[in-house]
Order: sequence, then C-alpha cells, then structure tokens
Amino acid sequence: MTPKVFPIHSAQPPAPPHDGRPLADTLGRGLRDLRISVTDRCNFRCVYCMPRETFDRDFKFLPHDEILRFEEIARLARMFAGLGVKKVRITGGEPLVRRELHRLVAMLAEIPGLDLTLTTNGSLLAKQAAALARAGLKRVTVSLDSLDDATFRAINDADYPVARVLEGVEAAAAAGMAPIKINMVVKRGVNDAHVLAMAERWRGSGHIVRFIEYMDVGSTNGWRMDDVVPSAEIVRAIGARHPLEPVDPNYAGEVAERWRYRDGAGEIGVISSVTQAFCASCNRLRLSAEGSLYTCLFAEHGHDLKWLLRRGGSDEEIVNEIAAVWRARGDRYSEIRTAETAKARKIEMSYIGG
Ligand code: SAM
Repeated sequence: MTPKVFPIHSAQPPAPPHDGRPLADTLGRGLRDLRISVTDRCNFRCVYCMPRETFDRDFKFLPHDEILRFEEIARLARMFAGLGVKKVRITGGEPLVRRELHRLVAMLAEIPGLDLTLTTNGSLLAKQAAALARAGLKRVTVSLDSLDDATFRAINDADYPVARVLEGVEAAAAAGMAPIKINMVVKRGVNDAHVLAMAERWRGSGHIVRFIEYMDVGSTNGWRMDDVVPSAEIVRAIGARHPLEPVDPNYAGEVAERWRYRDGAGEIGVISSVTQAFCASCNRLRLSAEGSLYTCLFAEHGHDLKWLLRRGGSDEEIVNEIAAVWRARGDRYSEIRTAETAKARKIEMSYIGG
C-alpha cells in the first residue's frame, strides 16, 4: 500500500486576523475556485488514477467519522464565498458514491453568488441527475476517456460500459444541466487514437468535450512524459478534419483553452497542464474529504481545517486560517516540473479531488 501523505496538523499559534482585503498569495494570485472532495472512494479503478494494485481490498480509505459532514462542508463553503470564492466544484473520489449527495448540493446552492458544479465518472448519474437538479445543481462535468467499450472498460478496470455513462449524460441534459462538459484524459498508446471519435460524438450536440493532458498527480500511476499527448497535437488532429479557431476565455484563469468549429458546430476545450502550465493564473484551492486544504494539485501536504472546526473554532478563526494559508501560497509545480519532481511523493488525485 502506498503511504498516504497526511496533512500537517495545525497545532500552531492562531493565524493573524484577516484584514478583509481581497486575498492574494505570494505570487499575487487571487482566490476564485474551490474544489471540494466529498469522498476518497470511487467505484472505478482507472488505471492512471486509482490503480487496483494500490487501491485494493487492503487499502485504508478514510474512516467515515473523519470525513466532513455536509453541514461542516456547507459552513466552510459560506466562509470561502465570503473570502471571494465564486465557483465550487464538488468532486472526489467519485462524488456520487457519497450517500444523499443532493442534500449537500441543496445546502451549497443556497449560498448567494456561487457557481456550483460537479465532476463525476457518470456511472451513477442516470439515477441521481433529477434529484441533483432539483437540489439546485445547474452544471455537471462527466469524465469519459473513450467511446470504445473495450478500451473504456480496460481504463476504468471495473467493467463499466460506455453506455452507462452516456445514459448519465442524457439524464443530466434532460434534467436541465446542459451544456455538459465531457472530460477525456488522453494517454499515449491507450486512447489517443480515439480523440477524433470523441470530438465527433459531441460535435453539434451543444455539449463540450475537453481533452486533458495526462498528469503526474500522485505517486501511483508511474507517469512518464512520453505518455503525454500535447494539446497542440490534439487541436491539430481535430482541426485537420473540422477546422477550428480559438475563442477567448470565459474569465481570467480559466483552465481550459477554448476552440470552436468554424462551421458553427460548437466548441471543444484543451487542458494543457503539462505542456503549457497555467500556474501563473491558478486561483484554485482544494478541500479534501477529511477537511484539509491543499493549495496545489501537486501538493505534498495540506492544512488541517477539521481540527479547528471540530474543536469549536469560530467562523472568524477559521477565516483567518484560510486567509493565512492562501497568503502564504507560492506553489507553481507545473512550471518547475521535471522527471525528478514527477517522482516526488504527492497527494493522490482520488484523495485531494480532481
Ligand atoms: N470521479 C470523478 C470523475 O471521474 O470525474 C471525479 C474525480 S476524478 C479524480 C477527476 C478527473 O481527474 C477525472 O476526469 C479523471 O480522469 C482526472 N484524472 C485523474 N488522474 C489524472 C491524471 N493523472 N491526469 C489527468 N487527469 C486525471
């Protein structure tokens, strides 16, 4: 079993009072996006994310009482919104394996001014889409790495068929969550031959497929630079068949680079976290299922907020702590990535939240 990297316990002096000014980290970056992981468990065993050899029967997932309750998450989310967070993405693990997730959605949907979304592998979406939409979820991102059933089953390593995910996408659209984003992680020699089919499946559908470069998150996936298919190659391949032109970002710091079909059949996105690092505009913070804050997807440690929450910390103390964590942030891992840093002992994506 791979050792888990535990958060630093914040049994330290209390953080200085937050002065109320907009937060900026040591590189001048503001805080805008929050990703909330609601579980470290998943019903898939994607070979590049939760390989079965590591995440097997003996793997120790977080005990239930260590996972933040919905009320705790909602309380923190309100504080984050007060600190300038505009967008919250619920993730995991697989968020839809967390029981009654729609209850959390309803709590978060009540926070004014928050753009709320969720990332899922789609396998349980057909069953839950209507309840999630009723609870106030307006948008969803579905991960789908291939439309070829054999390839997809080999990647998720849990025998889930493509059809199950497609039903989920349809149910979400029928529940009013369109346009839906479909995320495909592209790994050389595994599914790169399926990029064009994926683009064509969603071309003209109103949904947006986004191609993601395979990253060296965690320490269990044996990442090598040779496995990465640069986004430029993907844009070239799709553009050769269906001409594309660039589109301006929706907002500063948007992760996906947008391209639209010249014939008006919609748009695609590419997320080039490896070949064109976007650390300089990274405005994301991550809250793990057990209540630790991570200032980078490639972090080696987190900051324990649950400790403060559960020993009766006031909103003011917690806000001060969050503000101090953000102000001290200097991460820019993807800009300084080398083959050596890729071997470092980093937090697994299934734990920290994708
Ligand atoms: N279970 C949900 C899902 O499948 O979307 C949410 C969590 S999952 C960790 C979030 C996203 O991270 C998925 O789209 C997954 O494909 C992506 N991901 C996982 N490991 C990755 C890696 N090494 N490089 C790029 N993306 C990765």
